Amino acid sequence: MRAFVIGNAALDEIFEVDALPRPGQSIFGRTGTRGLGGKGVNQAVMLGRAGVTTILAAPIGDDARGVTLRAALDREPVRRHPIDLDGVATDTSIIVRAADGDNTIITTREAASALGTETAVGVLADAEAGDWLVLQGNLSLETTEALLAAAKDRDMLTAINPSPLQPGYAALWPLLDVVVVNEGEAEALGGAAAVLRAGVGQVVTTLGGAGSLLSDAAGSYAIPAVSADIVDTTGAGDCFMATALASTILRGRRTLDEQALEVAAAAAAITVSRSGTVAAFPTAAEIGTLL
Ligand code: ATP
Repeated sequence: MRAFVIGNAALDEIFEVDALPRPGQSIFGRTGTRGLGGKGVNQAVMLGRAGVTTILAAPIGDDARGVTLRAALDREPVRRHPIDLDGVATDTSIIVRAADGDNTIITTREAASALGTETAVGVLADAEAGDWLVLQGNLSLETTEALLAAAKDRDMLTAINPSPLQPGYAALWPLLDVVVVNEGEAEALGGAAAVLRAGVGQVVTTLGGAGSLLSDAAGSYAIPAVSADIVDTTGAGDCFMATALASTILRGRRTLDEQALEVAAAAAAITVSRSGTVAAFPTAAEIGTLL
């Protein structure tokens, strides 16, 4: 069982400032870190570090940021299915972080939006029954739907974290085995029960420090969070979902269970106790001991 992650890749650039600038104000800042980002990359890196054979297809532009991004990805245990776009800027998140922890984030999505349906579906050419398709909310609805339909034609298993939420997801529910949402997204979608009724196999609702809820036809189970000294919660949701899927895939299961969510909570607790996104995720050695 392999994981095919098709989504976005971004270069995160963090600037540390004393206080966020007012409109029109110019201020000094310190360059914090530059690193891997984008929900597709986040989830693929975590699956790969956990030991799942992971294919990542994420569009990258033909600029200096793209060079940096490819080099960083090549240091991670993922197989990059290259989607290199001519004349398109690599997606970037400019994160401005103030001393009091407040932040402002600007994210571009030219590269992710430029991923056409035909190219995306082509990534699944050698996918087999039992492989997983793992998606996030950054691709167009049309491409997302075409990918899910192609996955089901191949008897693959499908999982999505539909963030950022776009209108129109309801049409996709019958094509999904697993949907992972946070509390706000669950509410916006009418609740986990409504998503299950619409045809999804299992819904996981993450509740931050209050843990998570696994809902399926058999009922609803609450899984507590693992307590942590909070430093930075960015990326906790991606780490959680990818680890839950990794635990499921590595045990050869087709459905999530309590064990998968317990391991995911332990991995996410490590992430929230460190600064950054991918940089804060458990290393291969750390996740190996949890699994
Ligand atoms: P993000 O958008 O920051 O990546 P999210 O909103 O998608 O996160 P959350 O529900 O905030 O997802 O968190 C996902 C999981 O991470 C939780 O279910 C929990 O296991 C873990 N987690 C998040 N916040 C905390 C916390 N304060 N203490 C311990 N664990 C946490």
